[in-house]
Amino acid sequence: MAEFNAMDTAAFKGVWVFCEQREGEIQSISYQLLSEGRKLANDLGVELCGVVMGSEVNEDYLKALGGYGADRVYYIDSPLLKDYTTDGYAKALCDLIMDKKPEIMLIGATNLGRDLGPRCAARLHTGLTADCTHLDVDVEKYKNFLRTTSNIDVDNTKFEENTNLKMTRPAFGGHLMATIICPRFRPAMATVRPGVMKKRECPKNVEIIEPKFELTAADIHTEVVDTVKAAKKLVDLIGADYIVSVGRGISKDVEGGIKLAEELADVLGGVVGGSRATIDSGWLSADHQVGQTGKTVHPKIYVALGISGAIQHTAGMQDSECIIAVNKNEGAPIFGVADYGIVGDLFKVVPELIKQVEAAKAAQ
Ligand code: FAD
Repeated sequence: MAEFNAMDTAAFKGVWVFCEQREGEIQSISYQLLSEGRKLANDLGVELCGVVMGSEVNEDYLKALGGYGADRVYYIDSPLLKDYTTDGYAKALCDLIMDKKPEIMLIGATNLGRDLGPRCAARLHTGLTADCTHLDVDVEKYKNFLRTTSNIDVDNTKFEENTNLKMTRPAFGGHLMATIICPRFRPAMATVRPGVMKKRECPKNVEIIEPKFELTAADIHTEVVDTVKAAKKLVDLIGADYIVSVGRGISKDVEGGIKLAEELADVLGGVVGGSRATIDSGWLSADHQVGQTGKTVHPKIYVALGISGAIQHTAGMQDSECIIAVNKNEGAPIFGVADYGIVGDLFKVVPELIKQVEAAKAAQ
């Protein structure tokens, strides 16, 4: 398998996106990655293809991928792919990649994608960069990205003029951004967390192809006996328009602080999130965490209550349309990314905010 991939990088063409489906429904990350993939495919002048695997996925869902820029969808249909198994999915995807040879493969950093991506990269003997926050193939566009996001003296730095996928991700605990390339092997593989890339409509006449493939029960060494869904409904931070997040600043009255955040979220029509400090302390469950190792969110309004604004937190919320921060320390870094800052004790400020929002709603 490794010989197949030995350096003939020029033989690989096209940008592919693994489009994850669950119970036949395409997941939102697929549209986000197709939108990003469309941009890369345009820069390279190549086709964008989605890959869907499953059993009896509705054709309308496959066609809908054309709405986000896919020129082609490869659909691998088999009862053996109804439930996700590492063996089944990795074999089907690797065989297709080896047959069609895409130069770039994007996969969502979901639970499934985090399992599938590395397994395929190892089998294909290529590189994978996990949790990318920026992807580029065009050197000029990449330089512009660096000009706006780093202190690098771009004009006096030597860049290799090539179309390697430049995969940027936080490194060293988020203290710097590393750009990684995979120059000798293909496809260059990257995973991206849900919510990091924005979905953009870009209608295309999509062609649906059901490629030939070989997969037997003997290829799969695990059996899914039962699927148990989480009994508790998880908070949908990524889809929320309004998020009220709490940090360690609620420590003097944790219950009271969370209750205030819930009340404010209720009047705004939003949900409660938290910094990692609140998750590590066991005050909120992990699905509430915003930040580098939590969720990346883009709500209309993000309210940060008693959150200092560590880089690992702001990495997940700084692209919110409007950020309101409440902190008793006027030097807290959160004020550096906030559109509105209130210096004060959150336990005094939040009840007032709730009153004001209620009054404004009543006046409407
Ligand atoms: P603190 O930094 O302790 O800040 C508490 C703030 O509350 C202070 O600014 C204080 O002034 C204010 N305050 C106190 N009392 C009040 C009051 N009564 N009213 C108003 N303000 C008050 N963190 C994340 O959030 N998300 C991540 O995904 C994440 N990933 C990480 C990954 C790595 C590899 C590492 C090393 C760290 C990560 N962290 C993450 C942790 C991060 O570095 C910070 O430690 C964390 O964000 C701090 O949480 P905090 O702001 O709630 O707490």
